Amino acid sequence: RDLAAVVAGGTIDVPDFPKPGIVFKDLMPLFADGPAFREVVDGIVGHYGTDSFDVVAGVEARGFVVASAIAYASGVGVVPVRKAGKLPRQALSASYELEYGEAALEVHEDAFIAGQRVLVVDDVLATGGTAGAALDLVERAGGSVIGFTVLMELAFLKGRERLSPRTVHALLTV
Ligand code: IMP
Repeated sequence: RDLAAVVAGGTIDVPDFPKPGIVFKDLMPLFADGPAFREVVDGIVGHYGTDSFDVVAGVEARGFVVASAIAYASGVGVVPVRKAGKLPRQALSASYELEYGEAALEVHEDAFIAGQRVLVVDDVLATGGTAGAALDLVERAGGSVIGFTVLMELAFLKGRERLSPRTVHALLTV
């Protein structure tokens, strides 16, 4: 099946969320649909192949859902990239711009073995600010990023260009 169509079919457009003028893509129906969720996870695992990464890093919070499924299906572990202030031990931090103000992501400083190959996962790529911070963090923590994958890319926000020369894999580009 066409995985772009599977993602599109599991997404609801929510106008004016979280702010007036923004159309939020809600992927919860895709997560809640067992066969569709399995299909997209298997599609991502198939895209990268079984021996191309050693661990999966998921971006809080919806990235956790997809990352843990990819990790389980691949027989590897999962590392959470968290919003600031949530991790219990010594962490590295990367801040990024929001429309108003700043936010930060964190990862435990010992989260990766040096050179470990990391697949970084989130649900949606928009401006790329979140992904840029996450990828930077993984590398600062000693991981070697082999790819960044999302279920959906909002192309008009130019996240892919912002992350260049890194490559982005998206099942659906809108
Ligand atoms: P960016 O930093 O602008 O690329 O925004 C991407 C981050 O915000 C990701 O962690 C997404 O989970 C979240 N995000 C932004 N827009 C949407 C959306 O329309 N639907 C779901 N998540 C979104």
